[in-house]
Amino acid sequence: MNPTAYRGRFAPSPTGALHFGSLLTAVASYLEARTQQGLWLVRMEDLDPPREIKGAAREILKTLEQFGFEWDGDVIYQSQQDSAYQDALQQLKNKQLTFACNCSRKHLNNTASRSSEGIIYPGTCRHKIDIPPPYTTRIIAPDQTFHFIDQLQGPQKQNLHHSLGDFIIRRRDQLFAYQLAVVVDDHLQSITHIVRGSDLLSSTARQIFLQTMLSYQTPEYTHLPVLTNAEGNKLSKQSHAQALDLTHANLHLYRCLTLLVQSPPTELTNASLHELWQWAFTHWQIKHVPAVAAIDLSQDTNNTIYY
Ligand code: GLU
Repeated sequence: MNPTAYRGRFAPSPTGALHFGSLLTAVASYLEARTQQGLWLVRMEDLDPPREIKGAAREILKTLEQFGFEWDGDVIYQSQQDSAYQDALQQLKNKQLTFACNCSRKHLNNTASRSSEGIIYPGTCRHKIDIPPPYTTRIIAPDQTFHFIDQLQGPQKQNLHHSLGDFIIRRRDQLFAYQLAVVVDDHLQSITHIVRGSDLLSSTARQIFLQTMLSYQTPEYTHLPVLTNAEGNKLSKQSHAQALDLTHANLHLYRCLTLLVQSPPTELTNASLHELWQWAFTHWQIKHVPAVAAIDLSQDTNNTIYY
């Protein structure tokens, strides 16, 4: 591969401050991009105003800067991308892959069968015509198994029809769904490599399907372990993950490198951020990251500062 062709990204949602779990993802995707002589882009996934916390986007960027991350180009905001999503939706409509659905969540909860992904949409509205707004827009899920190789988690496969059925690409409130937006933006930003948390592994087949239908390239995927608390919940705002305390920025970076099994030497425990980044740029090896879905942070003796 031409090393300059690597384009990675970090795509936080501004639903709260940057916490240790998202820092770990940022660190791994940044180090992988930089050690491949690649570019690293930041995209703010402010797609869902009702879930957004005012000021969080600015805070996240400030925190990234204070940690010493340097991104390439301007930050893209999903809230500014509506016409691109609209175009993609139109392309899918033109191919007769979409339909309007006015099934209520309650109706589906009561009638549809389930898989580990949740409700399997039973196709109720697929052949209905003239459904008046408001409605969700779904895409017809093919009865086909998608195979891909995750660079860390290994071979994966999923049949969309059997595991979730026709899925939503535009919500009833007219907001575009994450699955469509992320595919359009990864394409527009010419992303070649996606390094993100394993909680999104089960979204990947949907994204590959959409890329195929929109004639986009499929990037390489690497799904990192997510950090969990003692109850097995992913560190997140909902699980009370704390905002990162910047007075300990170097310690946080050191601990990320340790959890990613890069084995930084103990004498670097109190090293400056700059020294730690220099060490990491030289020693980063994605193959040392454990190929597991989750790392239980409650087993870690210093965990109280994270949640
Ligand atoms: N915005 C998503 C999140 O914060 C990440 C999406 C992605 O990396 O594809 O969890």
